[in-house]
Amino acid sequence: MLPPLPLLPGTGPMIRIEDVHKSFGTVKALDGLSLEVPPGKVFGLIGPNGAGKTTTIRILAGLLRPDEGRAFLNGLGQDRSIETRRILGALIEQPGLYGKLTLQEYLTFFARLYDLDRGQARKRIQDLCELLDLNVQTRERLQGFSLGMKQKVALARILLHDPPILLLDEPTAGLDPLITKKVREHLLGGKDRKRKTILISTHNLDEAIRVCDEIAIIHKGRILEKGSWEELRERHASGCRVVMYLRELREDHADLVKESGAVSEIALDPDRNRLAYTAADVAETNPLVIARLAAAGARIVSVEVEGAGLDQAYSRLIEGSEGTP
Ligand code: ATP
Repeated sequence: MLPPLPLLPGTGPMIRIEDVHKSFGTVKALDGLSLEVPPGKVFGLIGPNGAGKTTTIRILAGLLRPDEGRAFLNGLGQDRSIETRRILGALIEQPGLYGKLTLQEYLTFFARLYDLDRGQARKRIQDLCELLDLNVQTRERLQGFSLGMKQKVALARILLHDPPILLLDEPTAGLDPLITKKVREHLLGGKDRKRKTILISTHNLDEAIRVCDEIAIIHKGRILEKGSWEELRERHASGCRVVMYLRELREDHADLVKESGAVSEIALDPDRNRLAYTAADVAETNPLVIARLAAAGARIVSVEVEGAGLDQAYSRLIEGSEGTP
């Protein structure tokens, strides 16, 4: 196996795109896109269909050339096929599998391409198949696999050589929730968390909130906003809906909530002992509301903050840019 490429944590972004433009005929897929992902971070690209997410990932993976601008992985530019093979795992939409091969044949073939020796390959294939709930002994050819199974095989393939950089285009599309959780834990849990730098594209805001350190909202080939989800929510969301269940709801509870300040749309549902309100800043308001209610003898059974606000931020940004060319 090739020795791992020396990585220099903290010396610069592992993934970088500089002012990239890419058109397909008259369609501008990327329009001056720039981004950087520091070592050990997970960066999410979120945007509607056709926003330019896959094009960004294909350019970074070296599968497409930009019309203008540059792309780097660990400081290496576009002409970097051998080095890239060692440091990159790229999962790109609709994985093309060699349909006539069995799972074992397919993964063994790629393990060889990645220069894993026989023993390493066997162990790695076994571990990944276990993680992804794939039966490595199956004699069925890949062409007979379901879409979700094909996605799992593609994931196993890109993880074979344990690359430090991952480009993942909709990685959990088609995976069931249990496997999604296992994959997420494998990539982001424990010791792997800081070893890998990941760019992930997703339509799934919940997934982005859960796994990404930083998120970019992309539309028409441009980044509209980026930051942690807390930053985006603060900048763009108008408030969160808070729902509380109490042991026994009283009329005066609404006044106590109101007096806590910066709340609106207070609603009481006495039949269900349910109290709801909208707070501009839940972190500020909720402790005050809870303290007031508790001091008045209310017994709070549960508190939920609905829609963490990123969905609003996302919709506003996308709708706000609809008029632009
Ligand atoms: P989705 O979420 O639907 O996968 P996306 O954000 O990944 O969308 P891209 O696939 O990058 O978007 O596409 C950006 C734009 O470029 C779209 O208008 C798309 O139709 C166009 N496009 C992408 N690849 C090609 C191609 N090979 N030929 C022609 N047009 C293309």
